Amino acid sequence: MADKTLRTFCRFCHASCAMLVDIEGDKVTAVRGDPENPLFNGYTCVKGRQMPEMHNLPERHLRPLVREGGQKGAEFIETSTAEALKLVAEKIRSVIAEHGPHAVALYCGTNAFQNSAVLGTSYALAEAIGTRNYYTSVTVDQPAKVFTTARYGQWMGGGNNFEESDVVMFVGNNPLVSHYTPGGGVPPFSPSRRLRDAKARGLKVIVADPRESDTGALADHYLQVKPGEDPALLGGMLHVIIKEGLYDRNFVSAYVDGFDELAEAVKDFTPELAGERAGISADDVVAAARLFAKAAKGRVVTGTGPEMAGRGVLTEYLVTALNIVCARFNQAGDKVANPMVFMPFAAGPKKAQVAPPMPMFGEGFAQSRIRGIGKLGTEMPCPVLADEILTPGEGQIKVLISIGGNPEIAFPNQRKVRKALETLEMFVQVDPYMSASAKRADVILAPSMCLEREDINNVSQPFCEEPYAHYGEAMVPPPGDTMDEYEMLWWIAKHLGLDLKLPGGPCPMDTVPDKMTMLDLISHGCLVKPSKARADSLASETPGGAMFYPEAHAVIEPADPDAANRFQLGAGSMPAAFSGYAAARPEADGFDFRLISRRSKHRYNSNGHISEFLKKKMPTNPAFIHPDDLAELGVADGAVIEIASRVASIHAVASASDKVRRGVISMSHAWGNDDAGKDDVIGIGASTNRLIDDVQDMDPITGLPLQSAIPVRVVAA
Ligand code: SF4
Repeated sequence: MADKTLRTFCRFCHASCAMLVDIEGDKVTAVRGDPENPLFNGYTCVKGRQMPEMHNLPERHLRPLVREGGQKGAEFIETSTAEALKLVAEKIRSVIAEHGPHAVALYCGTNAFQNSAVLGTSYALAEAIGTRNYYTSVTVDQPAKVFTTARYGQWMGGGNNFEESDVVMFVGNNPLVSHYTPGGGVPPFSPSRRLRDAKARGLKVIVADPRESDTGALADHYLQVKPGEDPALLGGMLHVIIKEGLYDRNFVSAYVDGFDELAEAVKDFTPELAGERAGISADDVVAAARLFAKAAKGRVVTGTGPEMAGRGVLTEYLVTALNIVCARFNQAGDKVANPMVFMPFAAGPKKAQVAPPMPMFGEGFAQSRIRGIGKLGTEMPCPVLADEILTPGEGQIKVLISIGGNPEIAFPNQRKVRKALETLEMFVQVDPYMSASAKRADVILAPSMCLEREDINNVSQPFCEEPYAHYGEAMVPPPGDTMDEYEMLWWIAKHLGLDLKLPGGPCPMDTVPDKMTMLDLISHGCLVKPSKARADSLASETPGGAMFYPEAHAVIEPADPDAANRFQLGAGSMPAAFSGYAAARPEADGFDFRLISRRSKHRYNSNGHISEFLKKKMPTNPAFIHPDDLAELGVADGAVIEIASRVASIHAVASASDKVRRGVISMSHAWGNDDAGKDDVIGIGASTNRLIDDVQDMDPITGLPLQSAIPVRVVAA
């Protein structure tokens, strides 16, 4: 029997589902969906419901661990958080003195995004140190949609929102399982119910995916494209839309430059050519184009797969072009699609006009020493991190602080990453468990977990189509000597004598600021201050429950009379890039299969492997493969197979699925452990990252290598 039940929200993924939490003494004992929350109506997923287990696991780190005698590879011994942070700061100080500030790197992984103050604090620390080496997991799987599309211009009123759309096209996006979709896709708040409800009111759904995913199963028009050939489908659709005059001529005339270049680039890319390249029929290309363009409102959105499957920048350009030529934007008098109450930039003007292109890479941005790759916005791309550690010379990384991530499992080329982590003079892993990356660490810092700390739902704001806010207080005290990660970062700055500059002004450096002070400074300029949300929540009849701020929902204003900015569809020579793609013919490479990535209901990137419940539900990383392919290979369903790329091989359990296109193997990305091999693959599951060549097949702008649509061979093991 619980002592009390409190309201909060889940922080296992970016959906921020509303939860009720049962507490006995100092322990969280059960969680379930909050039925009174109008956005979620009691929805949670199986991962979030394992929060009590994950908080209370006996193997959880409750104190920091350091290597005995400071020796690499020596046994771990416990120390205090205060001592560990001093040790880290001392090392950073000496490394900066000897090698300069770029020798220190920070990496924020998936879990770091769940702590509402970590991104802001860690970036301020990187700036205070003066290092260019700041990394986040955004550049592991979707850098193009975040950092390259702004160069074509942006509509200040935002895109069409899901709830008012007549059509949505999901390209390699399975939000019913991933709980992720860019603006205009189905928000991850009970997404299956939401999509079914929208279909009942008339929404048409187009899904392009080499595997018929859960989302694909609900599609009105499902396209089983070949892995890595999304540009063919998108280019073919643009051909049809332009040739048949289905685009918005008035909008294009008023707001778009570069349209003629785009039209020329797709002119000869007929539905027949597009269909042949994408592995679907010409009729399917035409039908998708007409269904999308003839609807009044809607969006094309992508998941992470299309970016990881090569040519991510081109794919995102074509998606952007489809949305632009069909004028998929909210207009004057409409409410903005995503009010984003906690975002610093949300209070800016909302007008029915184009904001100028915003370069987020190239000239003026710091360069990596590796492969000519440069910084994307504020971040150095993750695919260069291992070589930045391993390559001698000025700026070689000697100290890495990794927060909420698991680089050995998530980054391309697992063996190189492991070697790099072992090469560091000091690798600091902030991690509640002994993950694959933690095993390489010199210092493991023990963080408090989400139900032990305050947060706001800033990570789910991009999905909220209403001005929705959620504040969660600490449900139970942090156990042992654990600490909120933002405080760890503050203490490192304090020991180094550095000032942290935040968007709202200098961070107090006398004593650790409370979290709301920190969040107010980080979110400076947002529509609802985090401290106000906290006060409103605690004063409400349902503390920790949903809050709506309708007065913060802006209505889009008419354009300025002298507004002159236009979308730039010719920027970056992207029409020519498409022409080059269209002219190239895929070459036979001796690899018969393409290995694609998929999402799992029982894991979230590299998270969830620690839960016994989730492990029982899904103990391995199955290789889903068409039954006819298995028959041709002479492999039985459930047998162990060997999958070999040109750089490495892994073992996996074959699982027959007629949802997967012939010639395709579908496995989860960022799975497994450090050294899962043939003998333990049934109980652990392999990491497909080992198969990735991080040097070849790399996008020249984002540095992203081929992480899906990987050419592989399959044999019985
Ligand atoms: S969908 Fe995400 S936020 Fe919601 S319960 Fe599952 S893991 Fe938690």
